[in-house]
Amino acid sequence: MTRPFRVAVVGAGPAGIYAGNILRTRAGEAGIEVQIDLFESLPSPYGLIRYGVAPDHPRIKGIVTSLHDMLADGAVRLLGNVEIGADITVDELQELYHAVVFATGAQVDRHFDLPGLEKHGSFGAADFVSWYDGHPDVPREWPLNARQIAVLGNGNVALDVARVLAKHPVDLLTTDIPENVYAGLAASPVTDVHVFGRRGPHDIKFTPIELRELGEVPGVDIVLYDEDFENGSTAVGGADKGAGGRAGAGEAAANGARRAVGNQAKVMARILQSWRERESTDAPRRLHLHFWHRPVEILGDGDGDGEGAGRVTAIRFERTEPDGAGGIRGTGEFVDYGVQAVYRAIGYRGTPVRDVPFDEAAGVIPNDGGRVLDENGAAVPRLYATGWIKRGPVGLIGHTKGDAAETVEKLLEDHASLSAAERPDEDAVIAFLRSRGVRFTTWDGWLALDEHERALGEEFPGMQRERIKVVSRDEQVAISNREVVAR
Ligand SMILES: Cc1cc2nc3c(=O)[nH]c(=O)nc-3n(C[C@H](O)[C@H](O)[C@H](O)COP(=O)(O)OP(=O)(O)OC[C@H]3O[C@@H](n4cnc5c(N)ncnc54)[C@H](O)[C@@H]3O)c2cc1C
Repeated sequence: MTRPFRVAVVGAGPAGIYAGNILRTRAGEAGIEVQIDLFESLPSPYGLIRYGVAPDHPRIKGIVTSLHDMLADGAVRLLGNVEIGADITVDELQELYHAVVFATGAQVDRHFDLPGLEKHGSFGAADFVSWYDGHPDVPREWPLNARQIAVLGNGNVALDVARVLAKHPVDLLTTDIPENVYAGLAASPVTDVHVFGRRGPHDIKFTPIELRELGEVPGVDIVLYDEDFENGSTAVGGADKGAGGRAGAGEAAANGARRAVGNQAKVMARILQSWRERESTDAPRRLHLHFWHRPVEILGDGDGDGEGAGRVTAIRFERTEPDGAGGIRGTGEFVDYGVQAVYRAIGYRGTPVRDVPFDEAAGVIPNDGGRVLDENGAAVPRLYATGWIKRGPVGLIGHTKGDAAETVEKLLEDHASLSAAERPDEDAVIAFLRSRGVRFTTWDGWLALDEHERALGEEFPGMQRERIKVVSRDEQVAISNREVVAR
């Protein structure tokens, strides 16, 4: 009798769900009986689609529908509220499964070395995003008391953060934002949100759809500055050359799919140009886009760390210009902007899972096409990686699919040697989690929570709120666990 090939996938974001689904299909085609468990540290699935994608992007959240379908028949079994490396160790997991695929993504802000970063009013984008998306593990309150705000970064996350900060909260009322988030945003006195990029308008890493929607936010004027467009090689009209031709290969790769290329750059150049020609509507809020500004220091009214750090009062930049070799250099001209809050949206970073190799510099699990490597570069038997923890936090949801296909291919190449070992059946892990007192959630539990959240949305008739998220972890688990554990 052949034994089923038992695989644990860690992380129920898009990468983990695609990996589980592709594995199930490819194994079926190869005549391999496979049992797949999908572990997730949160009580609910979908990773950054639920806790990263902005609430006013319901179209993107629609991807959830296809991910839902991949889990609906239970062939990939969801076990939520289980943190691998804490509730169950990787060694223990390996005793229960023939192979483990890590799809643990990226949850925290990349480190940024900027004097004054410790001041009150200086925030990482990842924390703010987690707050407005109702992540259970961040505080419910967010200090929104700044009238002028700086957002550092020229990628889509910077745009998300700037848009959510600038938007009139009533325009977010049709989304799934939790009540505490709406209340926080409704109390914000903000009038001006300034987005700063170190490079020129041709080097933005936004995507055209995200850029365009910024100009459609009701009651918010977009402000651009002529001097940012005057710099010869930096003119918006040079977008094609800039985006396509100037970056070195390494830099282009690092910027990944979010870098504007070819037609995309032309479209964005046209959008920026149309905003430059637009008349102000004297809107109560303004969103400023600045280019050629390198942050130098966050200024404040205190000195030292902790309570003594003081509050943000301004941010200092050095103006930059092209260095003629594809990079930028400082001009020696410094400029201060009076702001009371600074948000840095300079990239996410993966975090290590205990007992799994980790590349601290790159913030990823070192791997070769998905096979996890040890510090000597040798493949670690039974361990694989996919998604943002495999290749770094760049690229859109769709990119995690190709990634998962590559990892699954490697896993199936190794199937014969991996599956030679004895592994207990699929009930063993359930018994194990219960013996540890882990309050795990299941797919049926998610269906219960999903239904509950949708019902909360229906309490606002006429507003077409698809759902209102339940924030608290305990509450999510309690609602989920009204369902019995079933398979
Ligand atoms: C702010 C923001 C906005 C974005 N907006 C868009 C957008 O509009 N459109 C788009 O296409 N892409 C967008 N993206 C990119 C998209 O979110 C990513 O491409 C995608 O989510 C990466 O998928 P992943 O599965 O690798 O990681 P994640 O989505 O991060 O999923 C990883 C999962 O693993 C879980 N996990 C981590 N550690 C453990 C552990 N030890 N045990 C168990 N589980 C664990 C996490 O809880 C999480 O659920 C955005 C990203 C960010 C940060």
